[in-house]
Amino acid sequence: MARVALVTGGMGGLGEAVCIKLAALGYRVVTTYSPGNTKSEAWLHSMKNLGFDFRAYECDVADYDSAQACVKKIQEEIGPVDVLINNAGITRDMTFKKMDKPNWDAVMATNLDSVFNMTKPVCDGMVERGWGRIINISSVNGQKGAFGQTNYSAAKAGMHGFTKALALEVARKQVTVNTISPGYIGTKMVMAIAQEVLDTKIIPQIPMARLGKPEEVAGLVAYLASDEAAFLTGANIAINGGQHMS
Ligand code: NDP
Repeated sequence: MARVALVTGGMGGLGEAVCIKLAALGYRVVTTYSPGNTKSEAWLHSMKNLGFDFRAYECDVADYDSAQACVKKIQEEIGPVDVLINNAGITRDMTFKKMDKPNWDAVMATNLDSVFNMTKPVCDGMVERGWGRIINISSVNGQKGAFGQTNYSAAKAGMHGFTKALALEVARKQVTVNTISPGYIGTKMVMAIAQEVLDTKIIPQIPMARLGKPEEVAGLVAYLASDEAAFLTGANIAINGGQHMS
């Protein structure tokens, strides 16, 4: 039986590449989309045309009850989740001087609370079955901090604290928990940055002098999800073109 991989935010730039990679490797791929997403049917259709039969469920990952209901439905309709990729995330950038509570809360809830909300309903099952993979998509800016991102840097750094603590608790049951910290990857989230800022401020900080590709991150996700990666847990793997080494 194919393993079930649940990718949150699979209709976004990185998530789509992860869904495609895992499906190509034979996983049964399920994704979530946010309540505000009006393009989910179109996305599923375009993926079907490419030969990918994904299932998608509406879920607000920032909301505990929504996440529980969504995962319950997935487990009933598709089966137990073997691999969870906590990928959904948002930015609401502003200097700390301008940072207000709603923009702090939204980023913490969507990037960090979501990890609890989605992991909670799948982790016990992984432990009981004696196999599981939890992969948290953090960011280089959680490792090094970033101007205008007190909210995002805090949430992304928090994800790795969660990874390390949970990795200890479930290690003996062949459940691994890891963080991936991508640098700047050429997705909508990054292409929303003005080209001039990309050219003059961001790309010059990257020794490889380019943005990363979603497929490069997807390849790392696939490795962490594999049986080969069984001895790798509690790690924070940077994939950033040499921009930051910790
Ligand atoms: P996108 O903006 O393309 O995708 C983000 C995804 O998150 C979307 O699919 C969106 O769903 C989903 N999402 C947002 N809010 C919610 C919510 N409340 N409930 C459910 N889903 C939600 O971003 P990327 O693909 O670039 O980013 C993916 C992850 O990688 C994020 O966690 C991001 O922080 C991280 N990252 C990205 C980097 C980059 O350079 N791009 C660098 C480092 C980290 P929907 O489309 O349905 O609204």
